[in-house]
Amino acid sequence: MTVLSGKRGLILGVANENSAAWGIAKQAYKLGAKLAFTYQMPAFKKRLAPLAESVESDLLIECDVNEELAAKETIEVLSSHWTEIDFVVHSLGFSDKNELRGPYYDTSRENFKKTMLISAFSFTELAQASFPLMPKGGSLLTLSYLGGVRTTPNYNVMGVAKAALEASVRYLAVDLGEKNIRVNGLSAGPMKTLAGAAISGARGIFRHSEKNAPLGRNPSIYEVGNAGCYLISNLSSGVTGEIHYVDGGFNNVGVAANEGS
Ligand code: NAD
Repeated sequence: MTVLSGKRGLILGVANENSAAWGIAKQAYKLGAKLAFTYQMPAFKKRLAPLAESVESDLLIECDVNEELAAKETIEVLSSHWTEIDFVVHSLGFSDKNELRGPYYDTSRENFKKTMLISAFSFTELAQASFPLMPKGGSLLTLSYLGGVRTTPNYNVMGVAKAALEASVRYLAVDLGEKNIRVNGLSAGPMKTLAGAAISGARGIFRHSEKNAPLGRNPSIYEVGNAGCYLISNLSSGVTGEIHYVDGGFNNVGVAANEGS
């Protein structure tokens, strides 16, 4: 028996083998979970299918959260295969990369709405749609970044969306606590992914974080995966409404040790 033996879960956000969602999926599979995946659009299915196959999953559902009812329809498709699920991992976000540079005040109304909808509200829609499939309880997990609580260069409207996402975690935790459904966020340090690369100056931020983190490095997607497995398994049965950092300790640093020497 391993901690996720017999557990079934849906993972949103595997774009390729570098995705944070893939780190979580792979570790969850190793710990015994049965997985279903979503992909944003048909062109992404080709990349996802072999990865999913490697973790014995052929349950792949198209879900573009920019579309109204996408979350609901995804859960409907899932429920035709599985009558109950134990966890959902929401590992996605989007903003126009032209606005992930320069001043935040240049954010457009259109991109503000789109960023908030895809990166923050989609988690709430997913919670609405998926809790009926968790009659005995379950766990919802989303991915955040330090830019939601502090300023980080060029993160701009994504930071505002992550702040909304983290607040959603707390409100959903209260709403769903009586159903024994836990809701948590995992705030990861910089990882080299497609979404990460969209932020202007991503390399400099990556280097700054690894240099100044107490562990002297950024997390791998598998370290993020292991922490994710804690949050979706019964090991964290007493934990809800939390934002758990997996960033080598970077968020704790005020003035980096190497600045004082
Ligand atoms: P990624 O590019 O591998 O994954 C982003 C995913 O978002 C992709 O699978 C993409 O298809 C999906 N997506 C975008 N728009 C969508 C839509 N409309 N509908 C459905 N899916 C959509 O990058 P990642 O870094 O693994 O990102 C996953 C999560 O991790 C995001 O929430 C991101 O903000 C967060 N995160 C990333 C970092 C980092 O440094 N990369 C750090 C902390 C948090």
